[in-house]
Amino acid sequence: MKPLIAGNWKMNGSLASNEALVKAMLDGLGGQAPGADMALCVPAPFLAQLQSLLTGSPIAWGAQDVSSHEQGAYTGEVSATMLNDFACRYAIVGHSERRQYHGESDLLVADKAKVALAHGITPIVCVGETLAEREAGHTETVVKRQLAAVIHAVAHCTSEIVVAYEPVWAIGTGKTASPEQAQQVHAVLRAQIAAATQHPERVHILYGGSMNAANAASLLAQPDIDGGLIGGASLKAADFLQIVALAH
Ligand code: PEP
Repeated sequence: MKPLIAGNWKMNGSLASNEALVKAMLDGLGGQAPGADMALCVPAPFLAQLQSLLTGSPIAWGAQDVSSHEQGAYTGEVSATMLNDFACRYAIVGHSERRQYHGESDLLVADKAKVALAHGITPIVCVGETLAEREAGHTETVVKRQLAAVIHAVAHCTSEIVVAYEPVWAIGTGKTASPEQAQQVHAVLRAQIAAATQHPERVHILYGGSMNAANAASLLAQPDIDGGLIGGASLKAADFLQIVALAH
């Protein structure tokens, strides 16, 4: 299984800056097949642009969220079938910014993962503890509870999800989990996946949280870290490509 390096642009970008960024990434690849699978998860209004810029390239694209509903009176939400219209391969679900600022529960995140899978979209399921939870010694309990809700909902499709371990205290803060801290949690998640599916080897478990060109190598060298979910550094072509180059 190739590593997966997925960018999360969060609420950044414009038609002009996206075009420059994506072109710089494609130029940087120089027509070579990267050693890692690559994806960019972008704000919904830019999916058409990414589809047009990336079709036929080695970079996949995806959304940062998906509705748990199929359609109807859910103002502001974007459905999985809408993401299908733009050929999204991935949808992030349960990012900590959505859990924190939009009150998303484990159950809602699990429903979103299930709906994405039902529409052929791979959910990138984010789990992670806050600083208070880590300091209270609850890291394992929290990430296992978050992942268990998704496993329960998607059942026999567990081998089709991507998991991203993102300690909340490391996201956008410049503080990275040490490779040992990250590996410890990844091993717990790997065991949980292995108990739930006959094909645990198909599941990428990504690390996310201030991963950058300088710290990626030591994180990606850990046995249970299968790639990265990259926020800030995915907005800079050179940094993102360097992380991709380090992942093989
Ligand atoms: C993220 O948003 O998923 C993330 C990991 O952000 P950053 O890399 O900026 O910490």
